[in-house]
Amino acid sequence: MAENYYYTEKIETLPKTELKKLQFKRLKTLVNHCYTNSSFYKKKFDKLGLKPSDIKKLEDLRKIPFTVKTDLRDNYPLGMMAAKIGDVVEIHASSGTTGNPIIGPYTSNDMQNWKELMARTIYAAGGRKSDVIHNAYGYGLFTGGLGFHYGAQELGSLIVPISGGMTQRQIKLIMDLQATILCCTPSFAVYLAELMEKEGINPKDDLKLRVGLFGAEPWSERTRERISNELGLEPFDIYGLTELCGPGVSVECSQHDGLHIWEDHFLVETIDPKTGEVLSPGEEGELVFTTLTKTALPMLRFRTRDISVIKDDFCGCGRTHSRMLKIRGRSDDMLIIRGVNVFPSQIENAIMSFEELATQYQIVVDRPGALDIFAVKVELKDHIKQAQLGQDKLKARIRNKIRDITGLSAGVEIVAFGELPRSAGKAKHVIDLRKDKM
Ligand code: ADP
Ligand code: ZN
Repeated sequence: MAENYYYTEKIETLPKTELKKLQFKRLKTLVNHCYTNSSFYKKKFDKLGLKPSDIKKLEDLRKIPFTVKTDLRDNYPLGMMAAKIGDVVEIHASSGTTGNPIIGPYTSNDMQNWKELMARTIYAAGGRKSDVIHNAYGYGLFTGGLGFHYGAQELGSLIVPISGGMTQRQIKLIMDLQATILCCTPSFAVYLAELMEKEGINPKDDLKLRVGLFGAEPWSERTRERISNELGLEPFDIYGLTELCGPGVSVECSQHDGLHIWEDHFLVETIDPKTGEVLSPGEEGELVFTTLTKTALPMLRFRTRDISVIKDDFCGCGRTHSRMLKIRGRSDDMLIIRGVNVFPSQIENAIMSFEELATQYQIVVDRPGALDIFAVKVELKDHIKQAQLGQDKLKARIRNKIRDITGLSAGVEIVAFGELPRSAGKAKHVIDLRKDKM
Protein backbone atom coordinates (compact mmCIF):
# COMPACT_ATOMS: atom_id res chain seq x y z
CA MET A 1 0.00 0.00 0.00
CA ALA A 2 1.29 3.45 -0.85
CA GLU A 3 2.35 5.52 2.10
CA ASN A 4 0.09 8.37 3.16
CA TYR A 5 1.24 11.74 1.98
CA TYR A 6 -0.55 13.55 4.83
CA TYR A 7 -0.61 12.85 8.54
CA THR A 8 -4.28 13.86 8.81
CA GLU A 9 -5.41 13.91 5.19
CA LYS A 10 -9.03 14.89 5.69
CA ILE A 11 -8.30 17.96 7.78
CA GLU A 12 -5.17 19.02 5.88
CA THR A 13 -7.00 18.97 2.55
CA LEU A 14 -10.40 20.15 3.78
CA PRO A 15 -11.96 22.49 1.19
CA LYS A 16 -11.55 26.14 2.23
CA THR A 17 -15.28 26.68 2.74
CA GLU A 18 -15.44 23.69 5.09
CA LEU A 19 -12.34 24.93 6.90
CA LYS A 20 -13.98 28.33 7.40
CA LYS A 21 -17.14 26.67 8.76
CA LEU A 22 -15.06 24.68 11.22
CA GLN A 23 -13.20 27.82 12.25
CA PHE A 24 -16.42 29.69 12.93
CA LYS A 25 -17.85 26.82 14.98
CA ARG A 26 -14.67 26.69 17.05
CA LEU A 27 -14.48 30.46 17.36
CA LYS A 28 -17.95 30.58 18.92
CA THR A 29 -17.03 27.93 21.46
CA LEU A 30 -13.76 29.71 22.18
CA VAL A 31 -15.36 33.11 22.75
CA ASN A 32 -17.90 31.57 25.12
CA HIS A 33 -15.14 29.80 26.96
CA CYS A 34 -13.09 33.00 27.29
CA TYR A 35 -16.06 35.03 28.49
CA THR A 36 -17.16 32.43 31.02
CA ASN A 37 -13.82 31.27 32.37
CA SER A 38 -11.37 34.16 32.09
CA SER A 39 -11.94 37.32 34.12
CA PHE A 40 -9.38 39.02 31.87
CA TYR A 41 -11.49 38.54 28.75
CA LYS A 42 -14.79 39.11 30.53
CA LYS A 43 -13.61 42.52 31.69
CA LYS A 44 -12.48 43.41 28.18
CA PHE A 45 -15.80 42.34 26.65
CA ASP A 46 -17.89 44.07 29.31
CA LYS A 47 -15.99 47.31 28.85
CA LEU A 48 -17.00 47.32 25.19
CA GLY A 49 -20.48 46.02 25.83
CA LEU A 50 -19.61 43.01 23.70
CA LYS A 51 -21.37 39.67 24.24
CA PRO A 52 -20.30 36.26 22.93
CA SER A 53 -23.62 36.18 21.06
CA ASP A 54 -22.45 39.20 19.01
CA ILE A 55 -20.10 36.87 17.14
CA LYS A 56 -22.48 35.80 14.38
CA LYS A 57 -20.06 35.21 11.54
CA LEU A 58 -16.32 34.71 11.12
CA GLU A 59 -15.77 38.39 10.25
CA ASP A 60 -17.26 39.41 13.61
CA LEU A 61 -13.90 38.41 15.03
CA ARG A 62 -12.91 42.00 14.22
CA LYS A 63 -15.19 43.26 16.97
CA ILE A 64 -12.90 41.62 19.52
CA PRO A 65 -9.99 43.73 20.78
CA PHE A 66 -6.40 42.58 20.29
CA THR A 67 -4.45 40.79 22.99
CA VAL A 68 -0.83 41.91 23.34
CA LYS A 69 2.34 40.66 24.97
CA THR A 70 2.09 43.15 27.83
CA ASP A 71 -1.32 41.70 28.76
CA LEU A 72 0.47 38.47 29.56
CA ARG A 73 3.28 40.20 31.41
CA ASP A 74 0.87 42.37 33.41
CA ASN A 75 -1.10 39.31 34.39
CA TYR A 76 1.95 37.25 35.32
CA PRO A 77 2.06 34.42 36.20
CA LEU A 78 -1.35 32.93 35.41
CA GLY A 79 -3.83 35.81 35.53
CA MET A 80 -5.05 35.17 31.98
CA MET A 81 -5.66 31.50 32.52
CA ALA A 82 -9.13 30.20 31.68
CA ALA A 83 -8.80 26.88 33.51
CA LYS A 84 -8.37 25.72 37.09
CA ILE A 85 -4.94 24.66 38.30
CA GLY A 86 -6.36 21.17 38.80
CA ASP A 87 -7.04 20.95 35.08
CA VAL A 88 -3.59 22.13 34.04
CA VAL A 89 -1.05 19.37 33.49
CA GLU A 90 2.02 21.22 32.22
CA ILE A 91 3.45 24.67 31.77
CA HIS A 92 6.10 26.13 29.50
CA ALA A 93 7.59 29.60 29.41
CA SER A 94 9.43 31.98 27.14
CA SER A 95 12.99 32.87 28.04
CA GLY A 96 11.82 35.82 30.11
CA THR A 97 14.80 37.97 29.34
CA THR A 98 12.55 40.97 28.98
CA GLY A 99 11.10 40.95 32.44
CA ASN A 100 8.52 38.46 33.61
CA PRO A 101 8.56 35.32 31.49
CA ILE A 102 5.43 34.48 29.57
CA ILE A 103 3.93 31.33 30.98
CA GLY A 104 1.94 28.98 28.79
CA PRO A 105 -0.24 26.52 30.72
CA TYR A 106 -1.76 23.44 29.01
CA THR A 107 -4.68 21.20 29.95
CA SER A 108 -4.42 17.55 28.95
CA ASN A 109 -6.59 18.37 25.95
CA ASP A 110 -4.25 21.22 24.98
CA MET A 111 -1.35 18.79 25.30
CA GLN A 112 -3.04 16.24 23.07
CA ASN A 113 -3.72 18.87 20.40
CA TRP A 114 -0.13 20.09 20.59
CA LYS A 115 1.28 16.57 20.25
CA GLU A 116 -0.89 15.87 17.24
CA LEU A 117 0.00 19.20 15.64
CA MET A 118 3.69 18.53 16.15
CA ALA A 119 3.34 15.04 14.68
CA ARG A 120 1.51 16.57 11.70
CA THR A 121 4.24 19.20 11.41
CA ILE A 122 7.12 16.72 11.43
CA TYR A 123 5.22 14.50 8.99
CA ALA A 124 4.63 17.41 6.58
CA ALA A 125 8.42 17.87 6.45
CA GLY A 126 8.80 14.21 5.54
CA GLY A 127 9.31 12.72 9.01
CA ARG A 128 8.10 9.13 9.43
CA LYS A 129 7.98 6.42 12.09
CA SER A 130 11.21 4.96 10.72
CA ASP A 131 13.18 8.17 11.30
CA VAL A 132 15.83 8.85 13.91
CA ILE A 133 15.21 12.40 15.10
CA HIS A 134 18.11 14.27 16.65
CA ASN A 135 16.47 16.97 18.76
CA ALA A 136 18.88 19.75 19.71
CA TYR A 137 16.19 22.24 20.75
CA GLY A 138 16.49 23.10 24.44
CA TYR A 139 14.51 20.94 26.84
CA GLY A 140 12.84 22.35 29.94
CA LEU A 141 10.58 25.38 30.12
CA PHE A 142 11.32 26.35 26.50
CA THR A 143 8.61 24.95 24.23
CA GLY A 144 11.05 23.81 21.52
CA GLY A 145 12.63 20.70 23.03
CA LEU A 146 9.57 19.05 24.50
CA GLY A 147 7.34 20.18 21.63
CA PHE A 148 9.39 18.17 19.16
CA HIS A 149 9.76 15.40 21.68
CA TYR A 150 6.02 14.92 22.09
CA GLY A 151 5.43 15.20 18.35
CA ALA A 152 8.01 12.54 17.55
CA GLN A 153 6.57 10.23 20.19
CA GLU A 154 3.10 10.70 18.78
CA LEU A 155 4.49 9.80 15.36
CA GLY A 156 6.33 6.80 16.78
CA SER A 157 9.77 7.90 15.57
CA LEU A 158 12.92 7.40 17.55
CA ILE A 159 13.86 10.66 19.24
CA VAL A 160 17.29 11.50 20.62
CA PRO A 161 16.61 14.12 23.34
CA ILE A 162 20.07 15.65 23.30
CA SER A 163 18.86 19.24 23.96
CA GLY A 164 21.30 22.14 23.43
CA GLY A 165 25.06 22.34 24.06
CA MET A 166 27.77 19.64 24.01
CA THR A 167 28.38 20.14 20.33
CA GLN A 168 31.13 17.52 19.94
CA ARG A 169 28.89 14.94 21.52
CA GLN A 170 26.02 15.96 19.27
CA ILE A 171 28.13 15.30 16.20
CA LYS A 172 29.21 11.90 17.53
CA LEU A 173 25.61 10.88 18.23
CA ILE A 174 24.34 12.16 14.88
CA MET A 175 26.95 9.89 13.26
CA ASP A 176 26.73 6.85 15.53
CA LEU A 177 22.93 6.71 15.70
CA GLN A 178 22.59 7.58 12.01
CA ALA A 179 20.14 10.37 12.64
CA THR A 180 17.95 11.15 9.64
CA ILE A 181 16.25 14.31 10.92
CA LEU A 182 17.90 17.25 12.64
CA CYS A 183 15.83 19.64 14.76
CA CYS A 184 17.53 22.80 16.05
CA THR A 185 17.80 26.53 15.51
CA PRO A 186 19.17 27.47 12.09
CA SER A 187 22.20 29.13 13.68
CA PHE A 188 23.03 25.94 15.56
CA ALA A 189 22.76 23.99 12.30
CA VAL A 190 25.31 26.33 10.71
CA TYR A 191 27.56 25.92 13.74
CA LEU A 192 27.31 22.13 13.54
CA ALA A 193 28.26 22.27 9.86
CA GLU A 194 31.28 24.45 10.62
CA LEU A 195 32.51 22.12 13.33
CA MET A 196 32.00 19.06 11.19
CA GLU A 197 34.10 20.59 8.46
CA LYS A 198 36.86 21.31 10.97
CA GLU A 199 36.77 17.71 12.11
CA GLY A 200 37.04 16.40 8.57
CA ILE A 201 33.51 15.00 8.53
CA ASN A 202 31.73 15.12 5.20
CA PRO A 203 28.02 15.13 6.04
CA LYS A 204 27.01 13.96 2.57
CA ASP A 205 29.07 10.78 2.84
CA ASP A 206 29.41 10.25 6.56
CA LEU A 207 25.91 11.13 7.78
CA LYS A 208 22.37 9.97 7.05
CA LEU A 209 20.69 13.34 7.66
CA ARG A 210 17.93 13.96 5.14
CA VAL A 211 15.59 16.55 6.68
CA GLY A 212 16.10 19.54 8.99
CA LEU A 213 13.40 21.36 10.96
CA PHE A 214 14.72 24.79 11.79
CA GLY A 215 12.97 27.65 13.56
CA ALA A 216 12.66 29.77 16.74
CA GLU A 217 14.55 32.65 15.11
CA PRO A 218 14.59 34.43 11.76
CA TRP A 219 16.84 32.92 9.10
CA SER A 220 17.44 33.84 5.52
CA GLU A 221 17.32 32.06 2.20
CA ARG A 222 21.10 32.33 2.15
CA THR A 223 21.32 30.41 5.39
CA ARG A 224 18.93 27.83 3.96
CA GLU A 225 21.21 27.25 0.97
CA ARG A 226 24.23 27.05 3.21
CA ILE A 227 22.68 24.51 5.58
CA SER A 228 21.33 22.49 2.70
CA ASN A 229 24.69 22.31 0.92
CA GLU A 230 26.85 21.83 3.95
CA LEU A 231 24.74 19.30 5.83
CA GLY A 232 23.30 17.59 2.76
CA LEU A 233 19.71 17.77 3.97
CA GLU A 234 16.44 19.47 3.03
CA PRO A 235 15.76 22.36 5.44
CA PHE A 236 12.18 23.17 6.51
CA ASP A 237 11.17 26.35 8.28
CA ILE A 238 9.00 25.90 11.36
CA TYR A 239 7.29 28.63 13.35
CA GLY A 240 5.57 29.01 16.67
CA LEU A 241 5.53 30.94 19.91
CA THR A 242 4.95 30.25 23.57
CA GLU A 243 1.77 32.33 23.68
CA LEU A 244 0.10 30.05 21.12
CA CYS A 245 1.55 26.65 22.12
CA GLY A 246 5.19 26.74 21.03
CA PRO A 247 6.28 25.10 17.76
CA GLY A 248 3.52 23.56 15.70
CA VAL A 249 1.73 26.69 14.50
CA SER A 250 3.08 26.46 10.94
CA VAL A 251 5.62 24.58 8.86
CA GLU A 252 6.82 24.42 5.27
CA CYS A 253 5.73 21.58 3.03
CA SER A 254 7.97 20.13 0.32
CA GLN A 255 7.01 23.02 -2.01
CA HIS A 256 8.91 25.46 0.24
CA ASP A 257 6.56 28.26 -0.72
CA GLY A 258 5.62 29.53 2.72
CA LEU A 259 4.65 27.80 5.94
CA HIS A 260 1.20 26.17 6.18
CA ILE A 261 -0.63 27.53 9.20
CA TRP A 262 -2.70 24.77 10.80
CA GLU A 263 -5.92 26.67 10.41
CA ASP A 264 -8.15 24.17 12.16
CA HIS A 265 -6.39 25.31 15.36
CA PHE A 266 -5.17 28.83 14.55
CA LEU A 267 -7.12 31.61 12.92
CA VAL A 268 -4.73 34.07 11.31
CA GLU A 269 -5.06 37.72 10.36
CA THR A 270 -2.50 40.27 9.18
CA ILE A 271 -2.79 43.84 10.37
CA ASP A 272 -1.06 47.13 9.80
CA PRO A 273 1.13 47.30 12.93
CA LYS A 274 0.68 51.06 13.19
CA THR A 275 -3.08 51.39 12.73
CA GLY A 276 -4.36 47.91 13.57
CA GLU A 277 -6.28 47.85 10.28
CA VAL A 278 -6.90 44.32 8.98
CA LEU A 279 -5.07 43.62 5.71
CA SER A 280 -5.84 41.26 2.83
CA PRO A 281 -3.87 38.16 1.87
CA GLY A 282 -0.79 39.20 -0.11
CA GLU A 283 -0.29 42.37 1.93
CA GLU A 284 2.60 42.48 4.34
CA GLY A 285 1.73 43.06 7.98
CA GLU A 286 1.86 41.86 11.55
CA LEU A 287 0.57 38.36 12.18
CA VAL A 288 -2.33 38.08 14.61
CA PHE A 289 -3.53 34.69 15.82
CA THR A 290 -6.60 33.37 17.58
CA THR A 291 -6.14 29.96 19.16
CA LEU A 292 -9.29 28.10 18.18
CA THR A 293 -8.85 25.08 20.43
CA LYS A 294 -6.80 26.16 23.43
CA THR A 295 -8.42 25.79 26.84
CA ALA A 296 -5.90 26.81 29.51
CA LEU A 297 -4.51 29.90 27.76
CA PRO A 298 -6.88 30.87 24.96
CA MET A 299 -5.70 33.79 22.84
CA LEU A 300 -8.13 36.10 21.12
CA ARG A 301 -6.43 38.07 18.34
CA PHE A 302 -2.94 37.85 19.76
CA ARG A 303 -0.51 40.34 18.19
CA THR A 304 2.77 38.54 17.56
CA ARG A 305 4.79 41.53 16.32
CA ASP A 306 6.12 39.20 13.63
CA ILE A 307 5.91 40.60 10.11
CA SER A 308 4.90 38.37 7.20
CA VAL A 309 2.55 37.93 4.25
CA ILE A 310 -0.32 35.45 4.07
CA LYS A 311 -0.85 33.46 0.88
CA ASP A 312 -4.15 31.70 0.52
CA ASP A 313 -3.80 30.46 -3.07
CA PHE A 314 -3.48 26.82 -4.06
CA CYS A 315 -0.37 24.99 -2.87
CA GLY A 316 1.10 22.22 -4.98
CA CYS A 317 1.12 19.86 -2.00
CA GLY A 318 -2.67 19.81 -1.94
CA ARG A 319 -3.02 21.21 1.56
CA THR A 320 -5.73 23.85 1.79
CA HIS A 321 -4.37 25.64 4.84
CA SER A 322 -3.04 29.16 4.10
CA ARG A 323 0.67 29.85 4.17
CA MET A 324 2.70 32.58 5.80
CA LEU A 325 5.87 33.64 4.06
CA LYS A 326 9.13 33.51 5.97
CA ILE A 327 9.06 36.02 8.84
CA ARG A 328 10.48 39.28 7.50
CA GLY A 329 11.23 40.87 10.82
CA ARG A 330 9.56 42.24 13.88
CA SER A 331 7.46 45.31 14.39
CA ASP A 332 9.30 46.22 17.55
CA ASP A 333 12.94 46.74 18.28
CA MET A 334 13.56 43.40 19.91
CA LEU A 335 16.78 41.70 18.90
CA ILE A 336 17.23 37.97 18.89
CA ILE A 337 20.86 37.27 19.75
CA ARG A 338 21.87 33.61 19.85
CA GLY A 339 18.21 32.79 20.23
CA VAL A 340 17.81 35.06 23.26
CA ASN A 341 15.40 37.99 23.11
CA VAL A 342 17.10 41.26 23.96
CA PHE A 343 15.54 44.71 23.98
CA PRO A 344 17.84 47.70 23.56
CA SER A 345 16.12 49.20 26.58
CA GLN A 346 17.55 46.43 28.77
CA ILE A 347 21.07 47.34 27.74
CA GLU A 348 20.22 50.95 28.27
CA ASN A 349 19.12 50.18 31.81
CA ALA A 350 22.36 48.37 32.48
CA ILE A 351 24.44 51.26 31.18
CA MET A 352 22.47 53.87 33.01
CA SER A 353 23.31 52.24 36.31
CA PHE A 354 27.00 53.25 35.95
CA GLU A 355 27.84 56.66 37.32
CA GLU A 356 30.96 56.90 35.18
CA LEU A 357 29.03 56.63 31.91
CA ALA A 358 27.25 59.17 29.75
CA THR A 359 23.85 58.36 28.23
CA GLN A 360 24.97 57.65 24.67
CA TYR A 361 25.46 54.05 23.71
CA GLN A 362 25.54 51.79 20.70
CA ILE A 363 24.84 48.09 20.36
CA VAL A 364 26.56 46.33 17.49
CA VAL A 365 25.39 42.85 16.56
CA ASP A 366 27.21 40.77 14.00
CA ARG A 367 27.47 37.21 12.79
CA PRO A 368 31.03 36.76 11.58
CA GLY A 369 30.83 32.97 11.68
CA ALA A 370 28.02 30.74 12.82
CA LEU A 371 27.18 32.49 16.05
CA ASP A 372 26.01 35.98 16.85
CA ILE A 373 28.34 38.28 18.71
CA PHE A 374 27.39 41.58 20.19
CA ALA A 375 29.29 44.52 21.52
CA VAL A 376 28.26 47.57 23.45
CA LYS A 377 30.00 50.91 22.97
CA VAL A 378 29.64 53.31 25.86
CA GLU A 379 30.89 56.80 26.57
CA LEU A 380 32.56 58.18 29.63
CA LYS A 381 31.01 61.22 31.26
CA ASP A 382 32.25 64.57 30.15
CA HIS A 383 34.70 65.19 32.94
CA ILE A 384 36.21 61.74 33.20
CA LYS A 385 39.37 61.18 31.28
CA GLN A 386 40.17 57.70 30.02
CA ALA A 387 43.47 57.59 31.87
CA GLN A 388 41.92 58.38 35.24
CA LEU A 389 40.06 55.18 35.32
CA GLY A 390 40.77 51.53 35.83
CA GLN A 391 39.20 50.81 32.43
CA ASP A 392 39.51 47.06 32.55
CA LYS A 393 37.72 46.92 35.85
CA LEU A 394 34.91 49.13 34.60
CA LYS A 395 34.61 47.04 31.43
CA ALA A 396 34.33 43.88 33.49
CA ARG A 397 31.64 45.43 35.69
CA ILE A 398 29.62 46.53 32.66
CA ARG A 399 30.03 43.12 31.05
CA ASN A 400 28.82 41.40 34.23
CA LYS A 401 25.85 43.69 34.51
CA ILE A 402 24.81 42.99 30.90
CA ARG A 403 25.27 39.28 31.46
CA ASP A 404 23.10 39.43 34.58
CA ILE A 405 20.30 41.10 32.66
CA THR A 406 20.44 39.32 29.32
CA GLY A 407 22.29 36.10 30.04
CA LEU A 408 24.66 36.90 27.17
CA SER A 409 28.27 37.94 27.22
CA ALA A 410 28.97 41.14 25.35
CA GLY A 411 32.12 42.87 24.22
CA VAL A 412 32.44 46.28 25.84
CA GLU A 413 34.23 49.28 24.36
CA ILE A 414 34.64 52.49 26.31
CA VAL A 415 35.16 55.69 24.35
CA ALA A 416 35.66 59.32 25.37
CA PHE A 417 32.73 61.67 25.75
CA GLY A 418 31.36 62.90 22.42
CA GLU A 419 32.74 60.14 20.25
CA LEU A 420 29.46 58.38 19.55
CA PRO A 421 27.17 59.86 16.88
CA ARG A 422 24.32 62.09 18.03
CA SER A 423 21.06 62.36 16.20
CA ALA A 424 18.42 65.06 16.12
CA GLY A 425 15.56 62.64 15.68
CA LYS A 426 15.25 59.12 16.95
CA ALA A 427 18.53 57.77 18.24
CA LYS A 428 19.92 54.81 16.38
CA HIS A 429 21.19 52.66 19.19
CA VAL A 430 21.37 49.41 17.29
CA ILE A 431 23.62 48.50 14.41
CA ASP A 432 22.64 45.05 13.25
CA LEU A 433 25.28 43.98 10.76
CA ARG A 434 23.66 40.55 10.42
CA LYS A 435 20.90 42.05 8.26
CA ASP A 436 23.34 42.86 5.46
CA LYS A 437 24.59 39.29 5.47
CA MET A 438 21.23 37.56 5.38
P1 ADP B 1 11.40 33.04 23.62
O1 ADP B 1 10.96 34.35 24.14
O2 ADP B 1 11.86 32.09 24.64
O3 ADP B 1 12.28 33.10 22.40
P2 ADP B 1 9.33 31.96 21.89
O4 ADP B 1 9.90 30.67 21.50
O5 ADP B 1 7.92 32.02 22.24
O6 ADP B 1 10.03 32.46 23.14
O7 ADP B 1 9.67 33.00 20.73
C1 ADP B 1 8.77 33.12 19.66
C2 ADP B 1 9.28 34.11 18.66
O8 ADP B 1 10.42 33.58 17.98
C3 ADP B 1 8.30 34.40 17.56
O9 ADP B 1 7.36 35.38 17.92
C4 ADP B 1 9.22 34.87 16.44
O10 ADP B 1 9.57 36.22 16.60
C5 ADP B 1 10.45 34.01 16.63
N1 ADP B 1 10.38 32.85 15.72
C6 ADP B 1 9.95 31.60 16.00
N2 ADP B 1 10.04 30.80 14.91
C7 ADP B 1 10.52 31.56 13.91
C8 ADP B 1 10.82 31.33 12.53
N3 ADP B 1 10.66 30.15 11.96
N4 ADP B 1 11.27 32.38 11.80
C9 ADP B 1 11.42 33.61 12.36
N5 ADP B 1 11.17 33.88 13.64
C10 ADP B 1 10.73 32.88 14.42
ZN1 ZN C 1 2.05 22.99 0.60
